[in-house]
This record gives sequence, C-alpha cells and structure tokens, in this order.
Amino acid sequence: MADSLIKRMSTSDADFDASLTSLLDWESVSNPAVVETVATVLAKVRADGDAALLDFTRKFDAWEPDAASSLEISSSRMQAALERIDVSVRAALETAADRIRTYHQHQSQDSWSYREADGTLLGQQITALDRVGLYVPGGKATYPSSVLMNAIPAKVAGVDELIMVSPTPKGYVNDMVLAAAAIAGVDRVFTVGGAQAIAALAYGTESIPKVDKIVGPGNIYVATAKRQVFGSVGLDMIAGPSEILVICDGKTDPDWIAMDLFSQAEHDEDAQSILLSPDVEFLNKVEASIARLLPTAERADIIRQSLSRRGALVCVKDIDEAIAVSNRIAPEHLELSVDNAEELLPKIRHAGAIFMGRYTPEALGDYCAGPNHVLPTSGTARFSSPLGVYDFQKRSSLIACSAAGASELAKVASILARGESLTAHAQSAEYRILDDGNE
Ligand code: NAD
Repeated sequence: MADSLIKRMSTSDADFDASLTSLLDWESVSNPAVVETVATVLAKVRADGDAALLDFTRKFDAWEPDAASSLEISSSRMQAALERIDVSVRAALETAADRIRTYHQHQSQDSWSYREADGTLLGQQITALDRVGLYVPGGKATYPSSVLMNAIPAKVAGVDELIMVSPTPKGYVNDMVLAAAAIAGVDRVFTVGGAQAIAALAYGTESIPKVDKIVGPGNIYVATAKRQVFGSVGLDMIAGPSEILVICDGKTDPDWIAMDLFSQAEHDEDAQSILLSPDVEFLNKVEASIARLLPTAERADIIRQSLSRRGALVCVKDIDEAIAVSNRIAPEHLELSVDNAEELLPKIRHAGAIFMGRYTPEALGDYCAGPNHVLPTSGTARFSSPLGVYDFQKRSSLIACSAAGASELAKVASILARGESLTAHAQSAEYRILDDGNE
C-alpha cells in the first residue's frame, strides 16, 4: 500500500491536536513581488485608463487588441456562442442555471416595517446594488460554472448591470463561458483579466464602467488586486484553496469516497481532502482505493501532491467525535456519508455546505444541485456564509416619526446627546418636543 500517499491519523494519538493543527495550517501567500507588480498595474490603469489596460493585456495575455473597443464582446457574439455549443452542453448549462436560479430565489429578502402605537414607523428597505463586476478566471482553464454561480444570484437580487471580465490568453475566447454568460443574463463582457481587469472595474476606464462590488475567484494577481482595491469597491471574499471533509460510517463504497476526496484534490496542490471514520478497516479500504484509482486520474500529479501534503485519513472513536473534529475544522464542503444524515444536522456547527447521504457527492453541488459553490474556506465558515442573493443587496433603515412619537423620543435623545456634549444634536431633537398644550 502507498504509505506516503496520504497521512493516517487517529484521534487517540497522543499528538493528535498538534498534528491536526499542522495539517490545517495554511496561510495565503503574500508574495512581495506580486504585491508590487499589482500596485503598479492598479496605479497605471487608474491614471491612464484604457491605454494602460491595452498595454497590460498585450503584455500578460499575449494578444494584440487593436483598440479598447475590441475588448468588449457584443451580446450578439454571446448569443452566437450559445447557439454554437453542443446541444447537450447547452442543455446541461440551462438545467444548472434553472436550478441555481430557483434555489437562489428562496433567498430573496423582503423589506419590512412596523408602526408603533403613536404612529411612528420603523423598518428596513432592501435595495440591489446598481452595478457589479464579475471576474471569471481564464488564464489556465475556463470556468463556465463560476459564471453561473456568481451571475445568477446577482440577477435574482435585482442588480441592474452585471459586467463580466475574463482574460483571453492569445485572444482565445471560450464559447462555453460566453454561453453561460448569455444564459445567466450578464449584461456586458470584456476580454481583460488579471490585476488590470480588477483595476478597471474598481476605478473605471473610458470603456469599462466603475462597479460597486467585485465578485469571482482568480489567481494570486487577481486576489492581490482585490485586496488592494477593497474600500473603493465591495468584495465577495478572498478564497483560499478548496477543501472537503468526509464523515463516513464505513458503509459507503470506498471507491466513491476515494473519488470524492480526489474531486477536491484535483483543484490544486494546496487543496485539502480529509476523511473521518470510526471504522479502521474502512479507512484501509479507502487507502487501497486511492492507490488503485490514482494512476487512472487525469490530474494524477496534482491529486498526489494535494493528498500527500494536505490530505488525511483520520480514525475517530465514533460519529459524534467525527462531528466534533469537523466543527473544529469548519470545512468548506462537508459530506455526511452515513445513514440518517439529517439527524446529525443539529450537531453541525460550522460548514460552508453540507452534503447529506451517500448519494450526495460534493461534485453535484459544484455544478448543478442549486446551492452556490462559492463557499467560505480555511475555517472561515465559523463566521461567514456561501455567496448568495444577500451579497448583492443592501439594507437601508427606515424611520418616520409621528409628531407625538418624535416628542417622546426627543426627550431621550436630548439627554443622551447632552451627555455626549453634542448640543446641536440635543437642540435638533428638542425643537420637536411638543408643548403639553399642543399634545
Ligand atoms: P486568472 O484569470 O485568475 O489569471 C490570469 C491572469 O493573471 C492573466 O490575464 C494575467 O493578467 C495575470 N498574470 C499571469 N501572470 C502574470 C504575471 N507574471 N504578472 C502579472 N500578471 C500576471 O486565471 P488562472 O491563472 O488560470 O487562475 C485561476 C485561479 O482561479 C486558479 O487559482 C483557480 O484555482 C481559481 N479558481 C477558484 C475557484 C473557486 O471557486 N474558488 C473557481 C475557479 C477558479
């Protein structure tokens, strides 16, 4: 058996706590050279607009757009791509889009208000963001599923204008990405990428309008640029490497579990795949499946590195202990490959998405089940949630005082304002106090 392929651990090991901490240890690399390059790119695009955008596109994406106008893809080109792709691919994209839309429609928030006895109205009004920028990576691979997962919630939220940017190395534009954009209702598409695209969205150029928020994943240049423009625009999240944690009672086919672990590991060498089970024989079988299936995997090299650096098969005392370990990890994806997974739900405290039962591999959620695949990573599920409609909406508080209501509130506000030495506040409130005779 391939001993070094994936770590074996047990919660009964004396050094389990320390081993788990070191297994989870991951910090986003903050590469000073990248930080500097990105700062230069951002400053140049901010100062020189389209001219800088064209220069950087020529330099980093190896193609020669002749003018800024050639950076935009027309809606008829998007439509043509949709008609050109294979019918089965189009049907799959449309099915996924329908399911993602339906799921996200359930997240819609309503404005609300209530009236107090004296006629004062208090409430909350929900409004969508005006304009959102969506980054779709395109350097080494293309991600039509990212288009659907980021664009559809924005459109369900009521965002007026959705601007997509995606690099086109050597000028190549992927039909599936354009088709997904057409299906998701993206309004405008620009063929720019990297830090220069983030700069264009954050500051605006002559041809790319400034947006209110930027969403979507990308490589280190994109993530670093997002960090640097934060404040000028809103951001979704800076995602770390993808993770899966599987809890299995030992009754699922070990090949299925091995492949579920591979499905995260194939993302990149830093991805993390962990299996927890109380059945040591089952862990042996999964280890054997990994060894047998790995050579057949298309991305075997990446999977091997990911599993050996950051993967683990962990023996636990029982399912309750597995859940305690999982809650400590707060995984991005949690698979409960057990009977009656729903019964375990109340015990799960932290996870980006919970996949219940042996027939719910995380891969289905990645593409088409309906929930979003943009999820909190690196333990941030302790305090944050999947991307959703609410990320594209804001709340405004509503206050409408009646004369009688203002009079009563003003007495309270006046005391508090004078306590803070803010006398204009106090007087502004006091003007609203009714004379007893007027009440
Ligand atoms: P990308 O679009 O993120 O980056 C390509 C751009 O990087 C190029 O256009 C170029 O401008 C810039 N760049 C490349 N080398 C540069 C250099 N030396 N100097 C300055 N700029 C440079 O595409 P990618 O590189 O394929 O990366 C995609 C990333 O997105 C991967 O890390 C992938 O794992 C991640 N991803 C994450 C999710 C998720 O949901 N978390 C989904 C899809 C992709």
